[in-house]
Amino acid sequence: AAAEVSERDCDVLVIGGGPAGSTVATLLAERGHRVTLLEKDHHPRFHIGESLLPANLQLFDKLGVGDEMRAIGIEKHAAEFVSPDHDCTQTFRFADAWDKSMPYAYQVRRSEFDHILLRNAARKGAEVIEGCKVKDVEFHADGASVAAEREDGRRERWQARFVIDASGRDTFLANRMRAKHRNPHHNSSALYGHFANAKRHCGSAEGNISIYWFEHGWFWFIPLADGATSVGAVTWPYYMKRRNGRSLDAFLLDTIALCPPLAERLGEARLVSDVHATGNFSYTTDHTHGDHYLLLGDAYAFIDPVFSSGVMLAMQGAFYGAEAVDTCLRQPAQKRAALARFDKAARHGPRQFSWFIYRMTNPTMRDLFMGPRNPLRVKDALISLLAGDIYGKTPIWASLAVF
Ligand code: FAD
Repeated sequence: AAAEVSERDCDVLVIGGGPAGSTVATLLAERGHRVTLLEKDHHPRFHIGESLLPANLQLFDKLGVGDEMRAIGIEKHAAEFVSPDHDCTQTFRFADAWDKSMPYAYQVRRSEFDHILLRNAARKGAEVIEGCKVKDVEFHADGASVAAEREDGRRERWQARFVIDASGRDTFLANRMRAKHRNPHHNSSALYGHFANAKRHCGSAEGNISIYWFEHGWFWFIPLADGATSVGAVTWPYYMKRRNGRSLDAFLLDTIALCPPLAERLGEARLVSDVHATGNFSYTTDHTHGDHYLLLGDAYAFIDPVFSSGVMLAMQGAFYGAEAVDTCLRQPAQKRAALARFDKAARHGPRQFSWFIYRMTNPTMRDLFMGPRNPLRVKDALISLLAGDIYGKTPIWASLAVF
């Protein structure tokens, strides 16, 4: 027999407790709204996306989790890029960015990072329910009816004035609305794991990220605070088909061998985690919101992670989303204008990074990236982009127009 459905209500129902969901739940609870966040998993849980941007740090401080993040992160002062077609390593130091107030970021284990943000949401007054999966959302004139199921089969229903989809790459609402579009320019796959005993840089450079382009895509090398190093390959669409029955572990190790400078840093290293793979990479959704919902973070769009932008975009989008939802709930007459402002901000980040990443597939643009000339302040602007400084007043786009 079907389990009984219990009915409850809230102002805002958030689907998903990743960085986007936890951030927006925190901000709306702080503003006095009754927020319920449903997370299908239990934190701490593994998630990929371990390299943060300097622009994230000010968001941590606004959320009140700056000290907790400092305790779990290793400082990342620069991003270095190695390309087989160029005989130099290009190192972009965040201290050299246009805006000097963002000199470093952190590399983190996402299990710890996401758990801090989720706990913070609960501490600030959101009702957080883990092990509870949203199954259905029906919109009506006053909001939405949300059906969810607990792990033990119990079913629950919430009447919410507003729904925020922060379900990540599950893209809960976009799938149901058939509004998701794959990006043919970034249709890659990824393969990744953690290594012990990788050759890391010394001193303050230890936590820097390295990106290695190779024939079939690019690799990341992300040092974590506990000594493990995250290594992953993002490969062009055809490459995964070459696996030919090999285990994921063997396939990752064989792929690393195709990139000698990375293989050299992993010569003494051993794999200490499961190897994961993700396919069908990049997408966007044709809208960011409706009358009673909005889409945040990966639930709206996902772009190639070569510049480590995902978490920053998800969290910054959540700040804009909280502003919009607060206005919708308190000042219904301002709803249209608030959602239009959100729409503009939500599209801005993925669009700018995507525009730039697409240019990196062009060899001439890659040359410019690997040897930027500073008279036009191209290098300063590039570092600012890599730092995530894309929402403020720094005039980077005039310089980046050379791309
Ligand atoms: P998520 O972090 O995915 O959170 C969504 C949450 O929703 C999950 O906890 C999920 O369990 C929950 N959920 C889903 N469906 C439901 C449901 N029906 N009911 C309840 N809960 C649900 N970003 C970076 O910043 N730096 C990087 O170095 C980086 N590297 C990456 C490498 C790879 C290979 C990939 C794939 C991504 C990478 N990213 C990186 C991107 C980053 O992981 C994401 O952009 C970021 O996690 C988005 O946050 P989010 O909150 O939108 O979604």
